[in-house]
Amino acid sequence: MLLSPVQARKLVTCCIREKCALLAVNADSPSAIYDCLKAAKGSNAPVIIETSMWQLEGISFGAGDPVRGMAQYIAHIAILANSEEFKDVPVLYHTDHIRGPLTREILLSAVRGLPLTLFGGEIVLHPSTISLDAAKLTPEKNINMLCSLIEASEAAGKPVTLEMEAGLDGGLTTEDETRELVMGVEENHPGYVVLFAPGLGNRHGYSKDGYPGFKPENVSASAALVKELTGRDIGIVLHGSSGLSDHQVQSAVANGLTKMNWSTSGLIIRSGAAKEYYAVNADKIVPGHPEFKDLAMDSGQGSYVSRRFVPELKKLFSLLRSEGKGISFMKEIISTS
Ligand SMILES: [Zn+2]
Repeated sequence: MLLSPVQARKLVTCCIREKCALLAVNADSPSAIYDCLKAAKGSNAPVIIETSMWQLEGISFGAGDPVRGMAQYIAHIAILANSEEFKDVPVLYHTDHIRGPLTREILLSAVRGLPLTLFGGEIVLHPSTISLDAAKLTPEKNINMLCSLIEASEAAGKPVTLEMEAGLDGGLTTEDETRELVMGVEENHPGYVVLFAPGLGNRHGYSKDGYPGFKPENVSASAALVKELTGRDIGIVLHGSSGLSDHQVQSAVANGLTKMNWSTSGLIIRSGAAKEYYAVNADKIVPGHPEFKDLAMDSGQGSYVSRRFVPELKKLFSLLRSEGKGISFMKEIISTS
């Protein structure tokens, strides 16, 4: 079931308490979204499906219009996640790297709600959780952006739940930087930031040599610091997981990691499987061949890619220790809603 912003906070609390981490997959197509849900159901794990700007503007969703793309994306996840097949899987939709001059407008629209008008009626769609790309923002601008989203949420009477990002690719986030960022929001609007993504020594994207500078102890140090500052638990988020070893990921979870973003490795797996599919079937995907239609249609390639992608997701749920926890978390979230 797709969770609301308030239910999302409860899911984060469950993960912090149980010392497991949420897998957050950047999914760029309807088939990738379905694969995420299928893997989560198969592993009985909660899952976050998230989008950056490029997914919202991509041809499968907004086709150039990121606000339209977000509405379409949320509607798509909601229909799948609330269906009989996936109703017991806790699912969050999260805005990941939203950036550029439209950031404020896109996220204010998301906080106020994206209307879907149909046959004279209207429903309003919301992300479960929101973050934005802070790479090119000063701390002051980052804080102001989050504060303005909270103020819009309060004015509209619509709950919002936030992840705050520090400069992730610039090395380790210092104690002073963490204090400035987290307390810049918390002092005026306590309780809204439930996830914090500091620089942990790794980077976004693929690294042939991995990230030897990544220290899992930085996760526990960040978690302890934000707790000391705010007096409450805030989940620590790892971006740029694609270059990390399984051992590094497991160590990060053991050190209190709460959410891990996963994008580049997924693109490598999906594009590699698609490339292989067309190579393997090149002599059959020709008009007139008896298997042409089955192989040329979207579901042919999609099923082939799915068989590669879903097992990798299941492996990640196991590494993150969220495997086996989906149904019990869902029961807890619903019983206290
Ligand atoms: Zn990221």
